Amino acid sequence: MNNFEWADAKSIDEAQSLMTDASAYKAGGVDLLDLMKEHIAAPKRIVNIRNLQGFDQIKEDGGVLHLGPLLTLAQIADDKTIRSKWSAIADAAANAATPQIRNMATLGGNLLQRPRCWYFRNELFPCRKKGGEICYAQQGENQYHAIFNNQLCAIVHPSALACALVAHGAKLELSGAKNQKREVLLEEFLTLPSVDLHRENSIQSGELITDIRVPTPRADAKSIYIKQGEKESFDWPIAEIAMVLTMDGETCKSASIVLGAAAPVPHRATEAEQAITGKKVDEQSAGAAAKAALATATPLALNGYKLALFENLLTRTLLQAKGNA
Ligand SMILES: Cc1cc2nc3c(=O)[nH]c(=O)nc-3n(C[C@H](O)[C@H](O)[C@H](O)COP(=O)(O)OP(=O)(O)OC[C@H]3O[C@@H](n4cnc5c(N)ncnc54)[C@H](O)[C@@H]3O)c2cc1C
Repeated sequence: MNNFEWADAKSIDEAQSLMTDASAYKAGGVDLLDLMKEHIAAPKRIVNIRNLQGFDQIKEDGGVLHLGPLLTLAQIADDKTIRSKWSAIADAAANAATPQIRNMATLGGNLLQRPRCWYFRNELFPCRKKGGEICYAQQGENQYHAIFNNQLCAIVHPSALACALVAHGAKLELSGAKNQKREVLLEEFLTLPSVDLHRENSIQSGELITDIRVPTPRADAKSIYIKQGEKESFDWPIAEIAMVLTMDGETCKSASIVLGAAAPVPHRATEAEQAITGKKVDEQSAGAAAKAALATATPLALNGYKLALFENLLTRTLLQAKGNA
């Protein structure tokens, strides 16, 4: 790890005035410190935003849930308000990482963490994402990699919270220099390698995430998150699904379905949404929607198993939504 200077920010203005191109914000520090130890990041100054006041609030106001970027995953997992209507978000937080990490990791940091691709994380592989010529995963050990949009770079987006928040149509408030604020749909903020090979989102230099805004779903909506790892605990997902469904009896009125660990961004399963909307949810329609979701997948040599896995999980999740409706 490189030597660095430490700066404790007490306000947004101070945090931004301390930022230079050679600095990095640190919230929980779980990902940033890993990247530094892996020699993938080498900031000369760390600007600690962990102690900024007022950015760990949960508030429902005017049909919108406001989540502070410094909320820990543990706080999100335990909160009764979030669990009451946005249970996909609570469950995504509850099932991420380990109890120790959930107590350190923040929502803002979770959304902006870098991918876990082992070629990207290994300084000995000058992969395309780091400015090289090759995506080593495409011909290499690609069992955990993307099955969609994997032609340029085969990372999967690492954030469970992003998967659930995209399903819920969340927006981010970003604050730049001189208190300039912009609001952007999370789904549009997270970008594919075809947009920018070297980054996973469109955050601008010095910008901070200052609010995460989630629309309140209809009272009859079902919000579900499901994660499959190789082992029961302390594991990254090999597949995850977040879903917000509204039902009229047994018929699906609307569906927002997002697959995680599937693509370089949380992957909206548009074909499944279209296939299930307006249909009575049963084994046949759920299975057909799940098949439709995978129809455009382009699996690599070692991750073809994800097709059957996602198909099964998606069928089960749709049937679960029906059962609880
Ligand atoms: C063993 C292990 C298992 C894990 N499993 C999972 C899992 O299953 N699912 C999952 O989703 N994650 C998982 N994680 C990842 C973990 O959840 C993230 O590393 C963590 O959430 C990052 O949050 P942080 O606050 O520590 O971020 P930091 O490391 O502090 O920051 C990460 C990045 O975000 C930037 N940043 C942070 N906050 C802001 C802000 N408000 N505005 C602008 N920039 C900001 C920082 O500058 C940095 O670039 C796992 C990690 C480990 C080590």
